[in-house]
Amino acid sequence: MTPSEKADSFEQAQQDERWMHYAMALAARAEGIGEIPVGAVLVLGDEVVGEGWNRSISTHDACAHAEIMAIRAAGVRLANYRLLDTTLYVTLEPCCMCAGALIHSRVKRVVFGARDLKTGAAGSVFEILQDPRHNHRVTLTGGVLAEACSAQLSAFFKRRRAEKKAARQALQQSGGPAV
Ligand SMILES: [Zn+2]
Repeated sequence: MTPSEKADSFEQAQQDERWMHYAMALAARAEGIGEIPVGAVLVLGDEVVGEGWNRSISTHDACAHAEIMAIRAAGVRLANYRLLDTTLYVTLEPCCMCAGALIHSRVKRVVFGARDLKTGAAGSVFEILQDPRHNHRVTLTGGVLAEACSAQLSAFFKRRRAEKKAARQALQQSGGPAV
């Protein structure tokens, strides 16, 4: 690596972290409405062209993942379903559905935070994004602010478990559900 390439990659790493913080703020919006906190932002150059956060429960839509919402917003904004030269930043590794949508929309680069060891389609479980049989290649970077993104998700699940436990206890104390 030449010194200028090194400087470029350092600059890119800093930019990646900056946008991942932005995606985390979008994930917090999902959490605010009781959804699993995942956030995604699509960037063209240095401009936001689409944002999304998980909204499956509130919109009764299994497809309303953060990435899909960001892709839809960017398509409307750019008046083109092909989101050429864009980079998607998402706090959690995309699933199979989102990986497929990212290929169809020709997103150039995908940067994700935490790995999803149950349904990740960028290498953790499936390799949809990297599959050479697609006619579109996505550049992939994983693990950006991985710990922070993962902590955001764990905190949410921990809180939800505690809330459920408290609700169960309250029910038991009140003598159980009326039958
Ligand atoms: Zn997804």
